[in-house]
Amino acid sequence: MGTFELISKHGEHEEILFCHDKDVGLKAIIAIHNTALGPALGGTRMWNYKSEDEALVDVLRLSKGMTYKASAAGLNLGGGKAVIIGDPKTQKSEGLFRAFGHFVNSLNGKYITAEDVGTCEKDMEYIYMETPWVTGIPKDFGGSGDPSPYTAHGVLMGMKAAANDKFGTDSLKGVRVAVQGLGNVGYNLVKYLTEEGAVITISDIDQARVKKTVDAFAVKAVSPEEILSVECDIQAPCALGAIVNDQTISKFRCKVIAGGANNQLAEPRHGDQLRELGILYAPDYVINAGGLMNVFVELEGYSPNRAFEKTRRVYDNIKKVIEIAKRDNIGTHTAADRLAEERIATIGRLKQRHPGKSNRAFTTLKEINNR
Ligand code: NAD
Repeated sequence: MGTFELISKHGEHEEILFCHDKDVGLKAIIAIHNTALGPALGGTRMWNYKSEDEALVDVLRLSKGMTYKASAAGLNLGGGKAVIIGDPKTQKSEGLFRAFGHFVNSLNGKYITAEDVGTCEKDMEYIYMETPWVTGIPKDFGGSGDPSPYTAHGVLMGMKAAANDKFGTDSLKGVRVAVQGLGNVGYNLVKYLTEEGAVITISDIDQARVKKTVDAFAVKAVSPEEILSVECDIQAPCALGAIVNDQTISKFRCKVIAGGANNQLAEPRHGDQLRELGILYAPDYVINAGGLMNVFVELEGYSPNRAFEKTRRVYDNIKKVIEIAKRDNIGTHTAADRLAEERIATIGRLKQRHPGKSNRAFTTLKEINNR
């Protein structure tokens, strides 16, 4: 399939920039999916793609996902993403990231980058040497640092919204929660759940992480094979994607699925099946948007308190998704897309009618400082 055919097959993107610098070995693609709500924000993924087409399809898909995530989060941001083709273990260099920074800068704030799979804070620092349009830079530079505690707090808020709908109360006291994965998000979530008085079961394939969590909190550990079928009120997947699939769907013994992991449904039809089973699913990209909210605050001049406050909005966002699902008689995964699309249509139209008023995120402190 030709490049343009691939592009039109995978969505209606506003702009796609192919970035090449042979001296430093840079081959990258930046995809801007939609800027109706604000500048396109999304991380830079560095991956050893088998082909350039594979990289292109990935960046088209991921950038569209960011449009939906930012919109459903209620942020004035659009969706974008970048991929660098190469092995993150062996092909990183200062020159590579600074050259990439030049390309990001050429878009003049229409695309703002961040960390993603295969890139780290140090890489963002190199990009920052060439452009202000980067987030997730070290705290010393005014950055927001690790987003995971904010993601976890947003998940807690979304869980409360789901509990309110299902059990008639926001309180998680005595509520049985199973947490799969005790990494950056899962561990912080266990901490918050402990403060709430939840009854927690945990699991991880990494025994050191299990031990650390068991030592720190009053939790019960089970094996990775058992965790999804634990009898509980809420399952909180915080490890892998596609955990709701043909093999697992009949095993769940919970009333709600609300966790931080990305891409929890193997296919959209699994969302419909959860609905038929009477299990309330808090859509992944709505409930795990706390990290994105944290980064958004960085654009306005970072404050940890403001970022923390912002993550409380995940509660309202999950409530809205549940309302739309009931209103339209659809699964919550479809309702999340509808929430995102409705906001883009309404606010996007408003911006067209009042084009003089620019989005606050376009005039960041960083931009002003760099003028
Ligand atoms: P992480 O790598 O720090 O933690 C993942 C944990 O899951 C690890 O401890 C790993 O050992 C464990 N794990 C892997 N397979 C498992 C299995 N089969 N059973 C039990 N445990 C298993 O990652 P993270 O940053 O905590 O992110 C967790 C999930 O949340 C990912 O899907 C990520 O994409 C998503 N997410 C994270 C953030 C963030 O701010 N970090 C934001 C949005 C979404």
